[in-house]
Amino acid sequence: MIPKTHPRYESLLLRDKIKNAFKEGYLADSGMIAHGRGETFDYLIGEKTTETAKKACEAAVANLFLAKNPVLSVNGNTTALAIDEIINLAKATDSKIEINLFYRTEERVNIITEMFKERGWDEILGTNDEKLEYINNLNSPRATASKDGSYTSDVMLVPLEDGDRAEVLVENGKKIIAIDLNPVSRTAKMSTITIVDNIVRAVPLMTKIAKEFKEKGLDKNTEFLENISNNFSNEENLKDSLAAIKLK
Ligand code: ATP
Repeated sequence: MIPKTHPRYESLLLRDKIKNAFKEGYLADSGMIAHGRGETFDYLIGEKTTETAKKACEAAVANLFLAKNPVLSVNGNTTALAIDEIINLAKATDSKIEINLFYRTEERVNIITEMFKERGWDEILGTNDEKLEYINNLNSPRATASKDGSYTSDVMLVPLEDGDRAEVLVENGKKIIAIDLNPVSRTAKMSTITIVDNIVRAVPLMTKIAKEFKEKGLDKNTEFLENISNNFSNEENLKDSLAAIKLK
């Protein structure tokens, strides 16, 4: 048990979720290393959402609303840290959810599938029951793509992704929204929109923005959404995110 008074309580709680996911068998060991890299960058940005990240979240939501087939891709880390938040975002933006694992095994996919079903999300894509396609040029189990999901999707959220997959997805003509605390990762640079923030903060913020747009009827206002999207520059946003890192 982590005492609530511990100065790094929140961070230790997330670390615990990651450790448990590994013990429960749905997170690969390297997922723990990826989390460690994320923690470092989170520390450096002060463990809070920057104004720059907020702008990226807005652009991301605008693109999910503009999409014909929006898909939220989930891996072990995303499931461990933000399963309920991802389901809420999918509901708020009418997106599909698809499992995609870098180290895909039948067991890991089964556990994650069950976790989503237990929470009432039965229409999870990318499961072992599906006849999956493969995204071009990505010759590995992580290239699996659901026909109704990432194979045909035009806008995808890919949190905590690796650069290869992000690059191939972009080459396949998709708009890619990354959530990555590292503003200089290949994923961050390759993606159409990169949210430099912790997934545990970014996803609820996106849901909040989506609900606000909906309340004002802006989710169907193509001109409004395109305006936000066109005014967003990933290059500029990444520069500002890098500037938010404080080394003293
Ligand atoms: P790339 O191939 O894009 O250069 P990488 O090889 O570092 O990146 P991975 O090892 O797959 O990529 O790590 C995934 C990324 O996820 C890391 O850049 C890390 O900073 C980020 N990350 C880890 N945990 C979180 C989190 N909780 N929220 C947001 N980003 C995270």
